Amino acid sequence: MPTAVYPGSFDPITLGHLDVIARAAGVFPRLVVAVLVNTRKPVQRDADERAAVIGEALAEAMPHGGHGVEVVKFDGLTVDLARRVGADFIVRGLRAVSDFESESQMAHTNRKLAPGIDTIFFMAALEHAYLSSSLVREIALFGGDVSHMVPPAVLRRLPQVSPA
Ligand code: ADP
Repeated sequence: MPTAVYPGSFDPITLGHLDVIARAAGVFPRLVVAVLVNTRKPVQRDADERAAVIGEALAEAMPHGGHGVEVVKFDGLTVDLARRVGADFIVRGLRAVSDFESESQMAHTNRKLAPGIDTIFFMAALEHAYLSSSLVREIALFGGDVSHMVPPAVLRRLPQVSPA
């Protein structure tokens, strides 16, 4: 079955990530959303919680609760995870030119490490192109309204803002 992995920190998952998941799920019958346990970035929530929130968000946002989409936690190389779950593709999102530099470097590196595994990019939806998890964390920290940036599953965990 054509399978892709979508790796990321998802701290927290945003509407931009959800949009990429929905579009990738329309292409790949099996999509594995892979939550990085130890990220290079400082994370606010542990991987268990980040994965649980994604599961809830998928159940609420996607038809049939995200049938065909799995959520796993992982550590190590994305290509090793891809091999383990039988994926031939890695999905990533591109927002702006600034993403391109690091994403192209990562895609080339992964191709060298695992020539059989290719990276597929989805352009961020126009309305979500400005969104990042770090922006959400910063706004939420100061009690700002992030309800137009994240799914209800994330909002429910923010004491500062109540769901609409
Ligand atoms: P990472 O730490 O691996 O960059 P992120 O959770 O920040 O993890 O992002 C995972 C992937 O989702 C990356 O490819 C990133 O470019 C993409 N992404 C992040 N925000 C958005 C968005 N608003 N729209 C589309 N793609 C996004």
